[in-house]
Amino acid sequence: MTPGDNVRKKTPQDFVFGKAIGEGSFSTVYLAKDIHTNREYAIKVLEKRHILKENKMDYVMREKNVLQTLSGCSNHFVHLHCTFQDNQRLYFVLTYAKNGELLTKINELKKFSIEMARYYAAEIVLALEVLNSLGVIHRDLKPENILFDENWNIVVTDFGSAKILRKDSDENKEPEAISRRRKNSFVGTAQYVSPELLQDTEVCLASDLWALGCILYQMLSGEAPFKAGSEYLIFQKILKLEYEFPEGFNKTAKDLVEKLLVLVPNKRLGATDSRPYTSIRDHEFFLDLDFEDLGPPPRMMKE
Ligand code: ATP
Repeated sequence: MTPGDNVRKKTPQDFVFGKAIGEGSFSTVYLAKDIHTNREYAIKVLEKRHILKENKMDYVMREKNVLQTLSGCSNHFVHLHCTFQDNQRLYFVLTYAKNGELLTKINELKKFSIEMARYYAAEIVLALEVLNSLGVIHRDLKPENILFDENWNIVVTDFGSAKILRKDSDENKEPEAISRRRKNSFVGTAQYVSPELLQDTEVCLASDLWALGCILYQMLSGEAPFKAGSEYLIFQKILKLEYEFPEGFNKTAKDLVEKLLVLVPNKRLGATDSRPYTSIRDHEFFLDLDFEDLGPPPRMMKE
């Protein structure tokens, strides 16, 4: 039974499907209204034939498991209300994050003010702290997968590439073993993928800290740090840590980005915190910010 299935299993007939609001590699996300309550949801629809053909059952099951694990843990994750299926499709009924993607907002504003970048970086840190406490690595954190809810707070989505670390594994006992070695095919998105995921490779909680560094850089400059004409060239740049800060990039933000974009995973700021992620919270960039009460988001406006 999935959360929300308390009375009877829902069916597609319980919803009026509206416009498509997103497209993933294996899914289309629709805005839909529950005909009984009039509530709006985002329903992720996956074609079974396509999933089977591409051998992506694992990916789908993983996303469902992780979403269920995260259910009720924090408002910073998309909430899975229920799942159902018909002959052709699988349906994930998700909270509708009505203010769209972080990427769209960055592109629209060109770049964020320092207050906005600080606030949203702090929200991402809060979300990463919860993931860490549950042993969940997102592995595909990027501005397309960070959405805004109706109050302009962040909602992390797309857990198809996520990994749940087992608590009892040896690797979780030692600092270096915040990571778990695993033959790894490339998961994630070229520009945000961490070096360890490109090299044979280690799956670790600190991979999401690398992504945090990329996202903070992008919020403040308008572009991802590692840019090139092809995935291959982007990977080369990542592995050589080849990126530059544009002129005028805030100094303390630069320091934080440099401490997150570190090739060795457990040297990243926060990676070996006994209480994650106190060293990130304590960084000068977040000076004066109360992580226990971030208050309302700053107004979205051009710098
Ligand atoms: P990918 O190919 O990146 O792995 P995916 O198939 O896993 O994608 P999602 O990333 O979950 O699909 O969704 C695709 C897009 O749909 C998102 O980038 C977002 O724009 C939109 N979307 C997903 N979930 C929601 C939601 N709960 N509320 C609003 N929009 C959403």
